[in-house]
Amino acid sequence: MENKEAINNIYIGSHVSLNAPDYLLSATKEALSFGANTFMFYTGAPQNTIRIPVSRFKIKETKELFKKYSINSDKIVVHAPYIINLANTVDSSKFDFAVSFLRQEIKRVSELGFKLLVLHPGSHLGLGSEIGCKRVVEGLDLVLEDDDSNVLICLETMAGKGGEVGRTFEELAYIISHVKKSERICVCLDTCHINDAGYNVDDIETILNDFDKIIGLEKLKVLHINDSQNPIGAHKDRHANIGKGTIGLKTLQKYIFHPKLKEVPKILETPYIDSKPPYKEEIELLLKS
Ligand SMILES: [Zn+2]
Repeated sequence: MENKEAINNIYIGSHVSLNAPDYLLSATKEALSFGANTFMFYTGAPQNTIRIPVSRFKIKETKELFKKYSINSDKIVVHAPYIINLANTVDSSKFDFAVSFLRQEIKRVSELGFKLLVLHPGSHLGLGSEIGCKRVVEGLDLVLEDDDSNVLICLETMAGKGGEVGRTFEELAYIISHVKKSERICVCLDTCHINDAGYNVDDIETILNDFDKIIGLEKLKVLHINDSQNPIGAHKDRHANIGKGTIGLKTLQKYIFHPKLKEVPKILETPYIDSKPPYKEEIELLLKS
């Protein structure tokens, strides 16, 4: 009962899989089985760019289920595949591919009636974050040039492993403020990634104040709620199960219950336990105050 009351005011869910033959319909049922009221999915495998037409996703049946369970389409999150690299200045064919893939991905998200698309900004491949950030701006301008949908590209805060761009709020602010259609660029904050990037996640007031000063809190559209296997500043990006990592349950709950984050969907991407998704138990754990 306590959980039910809590979840009425909080958008919480997890990554779910999109499988044949029912695709979005089975993904939604999976989310509901976890006690979730939102979810995140990849439109195909996260590590490749092979995509089946969204006409096969069972959109109509899914939307009926949304209605039945009062699921808000505006809070559903799509994650772009992490292999596309908009920060690539080394191989222009890969940059071009990232641009054209993202254009199609936005179209898919729009056709599905969703709004939030999470994107890893990319890797500067050893050339430094300034060069990387500039390339991302160039890429996003190309992607959005002829796009008049209302899909928001949510750049994810990254751990800073390898040449990852988006390790600091400043880098994301730079990208957002330089993109021509900056109103289309928002942010997805990942608790594991910012911990690994060097932020003290437990000090939520400082995190939110800094975010507001540097980027603007109204730009925060998605939260990834993950524990971390590594200490602050490790630049690793290894997610741990809720309460089993260096961040801990109490700290993660601050992000679940903070009034300033009320409208932001909270998505778990924690590892499977014994080949099974842990999300039902972890959502219950997070909502228990
Ligand atoms: Zn991500």
